[in-house]
Amino acid sequence: MADVELMTREMSRIDFDRFPRTSLCHQPTPTEALPRLTALMGGPRLFIKRDDCTGLATGGNKTRKLEFLVGEAMRDKADMLVTQGAVQSNHVRQTAAAACKVGMKCHVLLERRVPGRDASYEETGNVLLDKLFGATHEFRPAGLDMNAEAEAVTRALSAEGHRPYFIPGGGSNPTGALGYANCAQEIADYCRETGQDFDWLVMGTGSTGTQAGLVAGFAAIGHDLPVMGVSVRQPRERQMNAVHGLTRKTLERLGADGVPLSKILVDDGYVGEGYGLPAESTLEAIHLTARHEGILLDPVYSAKAMAGLIGMIREGFFKPSDTVLFLHTGGATALFAYQEQLAASMNRPDAG
Ligand SMILES: *Cc1c(COP(=O)(O)O)cnc(C)c1O
Repeated sequence: MADVELMTREMSRIDFDRFPRTSLCHQPTPTEALPRLTALMGGPRLFIKRDDCTGLATGGNKTRKLEFLVGEAMRDKADMLVTQGAVQSNHVRQTAAAACKVGMKCHVLLERRVPGRDASYEETGNVLLDKLFGATHEFRPAGLDMNAEAEAVTRALSAEGHRPYFIPGGGSNPTGALGYANCAQEIADYCRETGQDFDWLVMGTGSTGTQAGLVAGFAAIGHDLPVMGVSVRQPRERQMNAVHGLTRKTLERLGADGVPLSKILVDDGYVGEGYGLPAESTLEAIHLTARHEGILLDPVYSAKAMAGLIGMIREGFFKPSDTVLFLHTGGATALFAYQEQLAASMNRPDAG
């Protein structure tokens, strides 16, 4: 009797229709096997969820968040999106494109966060696309409270008669995180429909909305998949607390119970010299994934996440019998802003 109950027990579902939302995203995104990378590493079995293929302006993880954020902006009758990010921010590029799609203006603040960049760093890659989408921008030096800066600019734009909607860096607040609670439900649906289960989910974590949304989503529907965040910037403790804080607020929004801090898993061993500075392991991950699977990773986020996955495999963190899902969060547009550094790495032994 207990067995029958277990087998027929339905997972609970989140009803996302109760939140303002606009459609921006190709979804569900594909889930694919990584057979050549799996063979190279000698297991565990690796799969990839292609959130680099969300469709909007070369894709990436911010598009899922923007469905809910722009949904709120439309509800509020905004005529402009205001946000902030590092110079080569993927979030800024996707926000600029989303604004075009819904007929709003877009104004962005770009932080000169990364030291020692190529001459073209402020012109190419994401910056080129921001301009194509007609976003207006202003630069800031490194180290300011960029959300406070952007909120001050938002107030000034209001005073001038615009109707701006402020989106925090990375789209990381409880509204944006709903996009990744939705992705968690999508992953659980995939497992149920295909019978393919995963033991781990590995992804890059920065402004926290992606990991917080995933953890909140899995908790809310009762799907037990541990989410390992590979930090691209902050030390472990700080990142865990930040992710936990947003997870709690997102679960509140969903009307579900909180999760303990022990549910927030972060590895900070792959940051290298800092945000936006590719480490040796970052370059290796870019080359290995390109040459073995024909997949592009970016030097700021997804390659640091993949370096984490590769490093954890080498440390024996996973069992060979495990199946690991890697979430590709996008970002390849930034490759063009790292041309000199990548050119210098083309003769690596693992590049061949
Ligand atoms: C923003 C971003 C991330 C990190 O997501 P957060 O929600 O900010 O933690 C990972 N990968 C790429 C490509 C990104 O642009």
